[in-house]
Amino acid sequence: LLNTMKKQFAVIGLGRFGGSIVKELNDQGMEVLAIDRNEEKVNEFASVATHAVMADTTDENTLRSLGIRNFDHVIVAIGDNIQSSILTTLMLVELKVAHITVKAQNDYHEKVLNKLGAHKVVHPERDMGIRIAHNIVSKNVLDYLELSDEYSIVELIAGRRVHNYSLTELDLRAKYGCNIMAIKREENIDVSPAAEEKINSGDILIVIGADSDITRMEQDLF
Ligand code: ADP
Repeated sequence: LLNTMKKQFAVIGLGRFGGSIVKELNDQGMEVLAIDRNEEKVNEFASVATHAVMADTTDENTLRSLGIRNFDHVIVAIGDNIQSSILTTLMLVELKVAHITVKAQNDYHEKVLNKLGAHKVVHPERDMGIRIAHNIVSKNVLDYLELSDEYSIVELIAGRRVHNYSLTELDLRAKYGCNIMAIKREENIDVSPAAEEKINSGDILIVIGADSDITRMEQDLF
């Protein structure tokens, strides 16, 4: 039986996305129930998950008998079958599961999931596409995290245009409305860089700001 003290996770759909969540949760020592309607998938995860069960989660009685409402967090990682994903999510919401995260296949799917009351909707293919595009467009962008439609966090590699300037001298807050949250230098990461801190080329700057401001700053300085 699952240990009642630890947070309990359930992952529905053991494709590439759901499967990697199960593996990672297991690696982090979490208890995870893995669910799929496909027997082969269930067998594949029998030794990875705490429990692996074969079930069709569009059936309300099945969900009830799995005790799904007692889980702290349920991740719906059903891929192409949008109908199954929507029905499963609807029932999880009706059963009042504490945290429901669902993978969306497209924008319409995302809209429906939000309307149904999913607590978090993820869109991994689209988000990864956006991140990779930012990486390709600017070789100084290492990583990109969208906070909302307007705001993001980016990791930028400092080049010679900012080399040996302090944060005060660059004055990014006034000029671009962006904040440097942290500076990574080799193995170290400074999460509250001082105003007089000099930047070296090769440093990685973690910047938060509006997309338009970040883009303007990138073009001018990176
Ligand atoms: P990915 O794009 O992450 O690889 P897939 O579409 O390949 O996603 O995998 C989704 C998984 O969800 C499949 O293994 C499929 O059997 C499972 N699945 C689909 N519908 C249901 C359902 N109603 N109940 C349980 N599992 C389901």
